[in-house]
Amino acid sequence: MLFSKMFIPTTKETPKDALLKSHQFLIRGGYIHQIGSGIYNFLPLGKKVLDKITQIIRYELNQSGAQEILMGFVVPAELWKESGRYEKYGKELLRFQDRKENEFVLGPTHEESVVEIAKAYIKSYKQLPVNLYQIHTKFRDELRPRFGLMRGREFIMKDAYSFHSDRQDLDREFDLMEQTYKKIFQTLKLDFRIVDADSGAIGGSGSKEFMVLAECGEDTIAVCNHCDYASNIEAAIRAKRHEPQDFPKAVFAKFHTPKINTIQKLSEFFKTDPFWTLKVVIRKAIFDSTSNKPDELVYFFLRGDDELEITKALNAINKIGANALELTDASVEEIVAVGLKPGFIGPYALRNITNANYIIFDIDLKEEQNLICPANEEDYHFVGVDLGLFEGLVYEDITKVKEGDKCAYCGGELSYKKGIEVGHIFKLGQKYSRALGANFLDKDGKNIPLEMGCYGIGVTRLLPAILEQKSDLKGCIWTKPSAPFDISIIISNTKDEEQVFYAQEVYRDLLSDHIDVLLDDRDLRFGIKMADFELIGSTYALIIGKSLQEGKVELINRENLEKKELECKNLSIQLVEILKRD
Ligand code: ATP
Ligand code: MG
Repeated sequence: MLFSKMFIPTTKETPKDALLKSHQFLIRGGYIHQIGSGIYNFLPLGKKVLDKITQIIRYELNQSGAQEILMGFVVPAELWKESGRYEKYGKELLRFQDRKENEFVLGPTHEESVVEIAKAYIKSYKQLPVNLYQIHTKFRDELRPRFGLMRGREFIMKDAYSFHSDRQDLDREFDLMEQTYKKIFQTLKLDFRIVDADSGAIGGSGSKEFMVLAECGEDTIAVCNHCDYASNIEAAIRAKRHEPQDFPKAVFAKFHTPKINTIQKLSEFFKTDPFWTLKVVIRKAIFDSTSNKPDELVYFFLRGDDELEITKALNAINKIGANALELTDASVEEIVAVGLKPGFIGPYALRNITNANYIIFDIDLKEEQNLICPANEEDYHFVGVDLGLFEGLVYEDITKVKEGDKCAYCGGELSYKKGIEVGHIFKLGQKYSRALGANFLDKDGKNIPLEMGCYGIGVTRLLPAILEQKSDLKGCIWTKPSAPFDISIIISNTKDEEQVFYAQEVYRDLLSDHIDVLLDDRDLRFGIKMADFELIGSTYALIIGKSLQEGKVELINRENLEKKELECKNLSIQLVEILKRD
């Protein structure tokens, strides 16, 4: 392609709201154009990269046996009401009406739609398994759309949905999808990790995320330094903690502890490790509007030096039937209103004082003795507390794994990394097929709900993910399979006929060798053309300059900006070799 003919509106201006380098470079490189909050147009370069990424995804999905379909972006609200998500999904779901006042939603994901397809056509186990996927637009009215394509409101997802006659076959497909995703991200030459992810109240290993490692990642991942354990912090587990040396052995007693209302003051007062102290984190559970349940305070007990992990906490109360949508902060006034003394809240008589329905203890505290905890009385604590003496305590893993905690599998050390979620695979089981009545006849002639899996890739998010991992300060650095061009040919001086003639010859040769090449034939200063190459990020630049007279040209690798002199003799053969090699 000729630069002079292509629509590549590069600019030096950085948009004010573009905080991430990927966002800045995609705008400055003329890849995308913002048209609304979280809504972007793809310009020719953006579309070119998007197509390259899409092709890799499509190829591997097809290889795996999945079949491509295309579902309506606009979905009748009725379906979402039937599945129960019309209420539950919250404000991210864009709801609207047509002229006849029929209600619709813009699909933020398409489980309901695809289950309708399965329901209409899959009647017998003989038609299973089936995996259907699409590469299509989604809309989520994100509270804070940000970072350009990273968190848009309108974005493109590859979403696949598989149907099975039993759980084992779903497990098999889930593993196949994990392998397929691995191939996709390896082909894209990304540094990524497959991590355990939150599976809601069901728990288990039914959900994995694919994380591209990058400083700016919004997700925290806990990784083991010894085995391959890696998990989203929302689902990360750890081994039982080791007891510190100084163990505050004491008979059960109430102590006067004036103004000792923080863990730090408490451990100083009793000269003991905060490990032995018990603290409560109080949150407010919010329920969906159809349940008619008012908000209520819920209580989580942890060791004094541990922190609550909110997703685990929500799952813990839902596991015992809360069915809450989310947990929000509780105000001091709300806590005082139920009869508690902030700074002195402990487990003794808590249920009697507050009528609480949900009180959870962290699993690390199971039957722990020698604890120190507040006495539900201003300026008093208990020592020598033995949780084993309490009846009916609910223990769940609700703590956020810390750096330095020990791996539950091998005892290695856990540390944090930052990741960008680019893919997510999930065993849905019968959740949607049950809700929407998608049944089939199994081998024994029984009519039962389909087993289902779903598998997403954030196709448009992959552009910024690649750039966040690779780019430097000058502009885009893509991985080779995702770069808009393999080579930019830059004519140093367009007034020099020899340079122009030679550049055109190389351009034609490379095109006939199926190399994706951009000829920068613009009558501009060399420096401007170089800066555009660095901004756009073709894999290589071939500089046709003065040394052409000695039969030489220069090749610059965008990744490290290393220069290499090449002989003009058999140039296209050499270039094809180089591109094949790297
Ligand atoms: P996130 O936690 O980042 O909000 P999610 O877990 O809600 O994402 P999924 O429902 O798992 O997203 O969707 C599948 C994939 O779609 C995600 O792994 C992500 O790559 C992509 N994705 C989700 N939301 C957005 C968005 N607002 N903009 C761009 N891509 C997105
Ligand atoms: Mg996800």
